[in-house]
Amino acid sequence: MALDQKYPFHSISAEETLEKLKAGKEGLTQEEAQQRLQEVGPNELTGKEGINPFILFLKQFKDFLILILLLAAGVAWYADHMVDVYVILGVIMFNAVLGFFQEYRAEKAILALKSMIKQEATVLRDGKAKTVEARELVPGDVITLEEGNGIPADARILSSKSLQTEEASLTGESLPIEKSTEPLEENTNLGDRTNMLWKGTHVARGAATAVITGTGANTEIGKISKSLGDIKTTSTNFRKKTERLGKQMAVISIVTSIIVFILGYYVRDFAFEEVLLVTVATLVSSIPEGLPAVISIVLAIGAKRMAKQNAIIREFTATEMLGSVSVILTDKTGTLTRSILTVKEVYLGDGTALEVSGSGYSLEGEIGNKQEEENTSGNPVLAKLLLVAGTCNNARLGDGANEQKKNKGSEEESEEPEVSGDPTEVALLVLAKKGGGVADEHDEVVEVLDDLPFNSEQKFRATLIENKGKREILTIGAPEKVLQLSTKVLIKEGPQELSEESRGQIEARMDEWADKAMRVLALGYREAEGASNDLKADDVHDLVWIGMTGIVDPPRQGVKEAIAACKSAGIRVMMVTGDHKKTGAAIAREVGILETAEKTGDYPDALEENELDVDDKRFDELVDNVSVFARVSPDTKLRIAEHMRDKGHLIAMTGDGVNDAPALKRADVGIAMGIRGTDVAKDAAHIVLSDDNFSTIVRAIREGRIVFQNVRQTSFFLLTTNFAFVAVFIIAMAIGWPFPLTATQILWVNLVTDGVMELGLAAERGHGEIMKQKPVVREVNILDKSVIPYLLLMSVVMVGLSLATFAYYLPKGDTIARTGVFLVIAMTQVFNTFNMRSLNRSLFTIGPFSNKYINICFLVSLGLQLIVIYTPLLSGIFRFEELPILDLIVILVLSSSVIWFAEIYKRIRFGKLEDVSPEEKQLERTREVKDRQEIEEAISER
Ligand code: ADP
Ligand code: MG
Repeated sequence: MALDQKYPFHSISAEETLEKLKAGKEGLTQEEAQQRLQEVGPNELTGKEGINPFILFLKQFKDFLILILLLAAGVAWYADHMVDVYVILGVIMFNAVLGFFQEYRAEKAILALKSMIKQEATVLRDGKAKTVEARELVPGDVITLEEGNGIPADARILSSKSLQTEEASLTGESLPIEKSTEPLEENTNLGDRTNMLWKGTHVARGAATAVITGTGANTEIGKISKSLGDIKTTSTNFRKKTERLGKQMAVISIVTSIIVFILGYYVRDFAFEEVLLVTVATLVSSIPEGLPAVISIVLAIGAKRMAKQNAIIREFTATEMLGSVSVILTDKTGTLTRSILTVKEVYLGDGTALEVSGSGYSLEGEIGNKQEEENTSGNPVLAKLLLVAGTCNNARLGDGANEQKKNKGSEEESEEPEVSGDPTEVALLVLAKKGGGVADEHDEVVEVLDDLPFNSEQKFRATLIENKGKREILTIGAPEKVLQLSTKVLIKEGPQELSEESRGQIEARMDEWADKAMRVLALGYREAEGASNDLKADDVHDLVWIGMTGIVDPPRQGVKEAIAACKSAGIRVMMVTGDHKKTGAAIAREVGILETAEKTGDYPDALEENELDVDDKRFDELVDNVSVFARVSPDTKLRIAEHMRDKGHLIAMTGDGVNDAPALKRADVGIAMGIRGTDVAKDAAHIVLSDDNFSTIVRAIREGRIVFQNVRQTSFFLLTTNFAFVAVFIIAMAIGWPFPLTATQILWVNLVTDGVMELGLAAERGHGEIMKQKPVVREVNILDKSVIPYLLLMSVVMVGLSLATFAYYLPKGDTIARTGVFLVIAMTQVFNTFNMRSLNRSLFTIGPFSNKYINICFLVSLGLQLIVIYTPLLSGIFRFEELPILDLIVILVLSSSVIWFAEIYKRIRFGKLEDVSPEEKQLERTREVKDRQEIEEAISER
């Protein structure tokens, strides 16, 4: 009974669709779903998943350099140097193998990252709502969707509420599309099938239930096989920089090769074929062909390290962009704070101030009167407040609490129940429970008719209920907003006019709480006789003020340190929050965004959106001097970001909501919250934080800076070795000596040094005060003046040593002289790798063997050199002569002098420096300490 996933479901009614898909409104049974999954396969887009090693290997031969090598082989064949032909072909193969391994490593890292981004969906199975991975969905599954959800498969809408979707990724339509359930003409265009939902698009607003009609390759997006959530690799600033460097190096190598040719052919009169071969070989070995591959690996390693630190890269180049970030615009709740909210205080409309005990989401705790020991349970205002808190609420508390208790043994203290939903709402639900299960009690009499979820623009949520036969609208929201919408206040005797005096009292209390870093929420209601079942934001007015709650949400551990690290790294941290100005400022002070000591002139600590309604010049001034922005909408967030960008900053910006998506896309580095964030935000972002934690951003920035450092150091390594290498040639020929190496020897040196060693340098972990330097600005070139003396010194040592060796052995014959030079060139280059691990720190403080990749590369490279000299067959082919062991040892020791020279230089120029600063170590170590665990521990300790 194969299911027809291609049926035009939009042309039939919802009921008929269910029938056709052999499904019910309550969804499939788990068993049936399992069976269908077997039948139709997982709901995945099989783009170019997986790596095809064969194709990847073949790809290596597309290279421009291979062409040059083939040309060289042709020349050798023409000149009847058959040995050279084989060697060159061998080199081509070897090159391809190396290239293959480099790319394979990078591709695998990308693939691993991809699998970290998982989409989930809420589906009805056995009549119960369940969260499953999107890949497990099958046709006939009934899913529920809400604002911000990604649509996991093609589906027919069963019921919807003010549903709008965003389908730009599929149809290119940039405006949200209104959806409904009505059947349509069969030949309706894809973009106009308003009763269907498409995989890969998003819910922009409203909510729906829908039945899945097509999965995986049978979806519309699957048909055009555009893989979504792919990691994109776009050309960036950084690529351009490295490309420029690569081109410069290529030009140098072409020019020097020409010089080698002219010297050899015209000045020295060597045979044409021989000169041509040597020229081609020098060209091949001095072009930094490995550079692009190295950059990919450095980025891949960086991305992998970031993932380990909980920052998952969605767009590959974000890895290096992070290293240049100079401003972070961050959210407050959940990013800087723990996002485990607890109601601590309640202030009722009748003036009663109450205290709430307990911590976290634990249900243990009481609501007590501050002043007297009066019994509060009889207070009707409190009862109403608890009713609203528990009913106007979309969060859920699981009943796993008792189970946990059993598992944990005999501990008396309460455990936290499993929760789901908005943390603010969870906090209020916990409050309602503490108040004596008020919400449960009302369950029989209160019927929820409609619900309007919280929205950061209107800043409240509302629920339409029927309470003992009477309709009421309940609201929870930002206190100013609710106060503004209120005309009455609830006291023990019932609703009463809201006087200016009580407004003043309420506002004073609001300020007082906000100053204590509390998140304040107000609760209100109104009778709504005859209201329709469809609740709208406009219906929320003329409220009766019930009271407000003060919620604590302490800063996360490590955030303060992370912000301090940003400061010393020259990165400005700005808080952009939807919360109250004072609450924002208070938290900002706690974590160090605002330092009490440093008061910037006449500027306030924090600003609200309406205070930013000024001309551009004043706006600039404000944004430059104020770091906390409150009650801000996503639009203003974007405006602030754009302003900073115009000033030449590179912006990292966090976000979680649907409205944040445009800003996340536009930021240099858009960072979405993995736990709290909507699918929309995650899809728009370059990076997803799997722990929502601000410290993670800072650790990722550190990794980004290391990426830049490693690319620089690898480039410098290639630059010095290539430069020294051609210099040896040109000088030797100018002196009147024979070629220091034959063409095949040149190619071999290139392989056993550059080809191998650069792999190790790519994996260097950071040294030094990475987070004490200013961010690298956009314009900076990779090669800056300050390193040139170092690179020159290295080159001089390498060239001098090579020439001295050649001169020493020449009287004994060309072959042995070339063998000696071969070893010196190769070994000085290999030792130079160790120098490049840090440009200013001694090898012995960073640990000579601490990069295990370099150790391996070192052994491989040394092995390859010795094999070619000491195995008779190969030494015959390459025309090497066996060196006495003593000579070998002397050469190795002499070659290591590049390290000693570098050490002396570093000591004189930089003094004695630690490997990494203590702060840096600390930052590296502050791994995700899961806040939940922390709190659980704190509870069990008490
Ligand atoms: P942020 O996440 O930056 O702290 P939000 O935009 O989420 O700010 O919230 C702004 C204000 O709206 C909060 O200070 C609070 O008063 C109110 N609020 C937040 N979440 C909810 C919710 N789920 N229900 C009702 N009101 C809320
Ligand atoms: Mg929020």
